[in-house]
Amino acid sequence: MIFELTEEQKMMQQMVRSFAEEMVKPHAAEIDETDEFPMDIFREAGKLGLLAINMPEKYGGSGADSTAAVIASIEIAKASAAVANIFSSVRHHLFCMYHYGNEEQKQKFIPAMAKGEIIGSFALSESGSGSDASSIKTQAKLDGDEYVINGSKMWITMGNVADFTIVFAVTDPDKGSKGISAFIVEKGTPGFTVGKRERKLGQKGNPVCELMFENVRVPKSCMLGEEGQGIKIALHSLDSGRIEVAALAVGLMQAALEESVNYAENRKQFGQKISSFQLIQAMISEMATDLDAATLLTYRAAYLKDQGKKFTREASMAKWFATEAVMKHTTNAIQIHGGYGYCKDYNVERYFRDAKLTQIFEGTNQIQQIVISREVLKQWAK
Ligand SMILES: Cc1cc2nc3c(=O)[nH]c(=O)nc-3n(C[C@H](O)[C@H](O)[C@H](O)COP(=O)(O)OP(=O)(O)OC[C@H]3O[C@@H](n4cnc5c(N)ncnc54)[C@H](O)[C@@H]3O)c2cc1C
Repeated sequence: MIFELTEEQKMMQQMVRSFAEEMVKPHAAEIDETDEFPMDIFREAGKLGLLAINMPEKYGGSGADSTAAVIASIEIAKASAAVANIFSSVRHHLFCMYHYGNEEQKQKFIPAMAKGEIIGSFALSESGSGSDASSIKTQAKLDGDEYVINGSKMWITMGNVADFTIVFAVTDPDKGSKGISAFIVEKGTPGFTVGKRERKLGQKGNPVCELMFENVRVPKSCMLGEEGQGIKIALHSLDSGRIEVAALAVGLMQAALEESVNYAENRKQFGQKISSFQLIQAMISEMATDLDAATLLTYRAAYLKDQGKKFTREASMAKWFATEAVMKHTTNAIQIHGGYGYCKDYNVERYFRDAKLTQIFEGTNQIQQIVISREVLKQWAK
């Protein structure tokens, strides 16, 4: 067992770190303040191959693996969790296209997405359907050679800047979760509109919107995967996305630790550095230990994925542990900074706000616990 990155991985980490420090970090507070999608950074990342790290070169990707994507996500999240989340979302959409698209769809969408020339979104959730994804109400009815889609979606990341969306809709109401299919719907298709943009606590600059479908007609060829495969596509891609959410939490935790240590070493009270107080040291030691544990869980999940092994349980463990830890330790990072931490002059309040989402999306942490226990019980029942 080797607990070290390979030379190639270290080089990649260094390259992404430089990009994050030069292109992302200086703009992170401004992106948070203005809540504007960082299109310049996005396009530049596309040119450098940072969006499609783990896509084959044949489709314009960098040909690396999921571990490389995790390494990159951690580096970007240290600079801005919102930007890291934007890049991870692209990989989520690429994953769906690559695993379930036919050759024509792959050729049409993947290279352009990889270069950052077009943007996608993933539209599963609805106002009445979040954790229980099978309860979606959006319908797609076959009419001749076309499907007619009606319904609305909520919380769709990058919905307002996307050139297309992967929308999940009921094609056979009698088949329950096996009666849901996925479709690629492009911007400009009549009846497809973007609704309200949500005003969020954190992850500013990474927009989430409502999407509306009113008699949207798409040819049969717009189906992604086979009829009835929608939930399979969603769950498979969410497994993978959970590893990236864990990586995002790890990156945020690294940033929180770094800034907490720096502050504690410089701030004096009662005539001493606050880092000399054991109660401050206790917070720092717990932060550092949880960070290491979260990092190892995240790399393990990515490793299993790269080996083509089952990683559902491990992805949920990484996501659950890392995101609970990041919430706790970004809270403590503010505590270490005292009143200054509560204000925007320091980054830790942004880390705290950005951290919260990681416990909610790509399956809430309660859902991760359900997944983990289900997998563990299955294992013991054998
Ligand atoms: C910023 C943001 C971006 C998002 N991006 C996307 C996107 O791009 N595409 C997309 O499709 N969706 C997206 N989502 C939606 C996200 O996936 C859902 O918010 C999430 O799955 C939870 O669903 P919900 O909000 O409806 O909460 P609910 O499912 O209503 O859950 C409410 C509470 O009940 C708990 N709960 C639910 N079921 C159970 C259970 N069986 N046992 C125990 N507790 C349970 C939950 O853990 C939670 O605490 C995004 C959400 C946010 C906030």
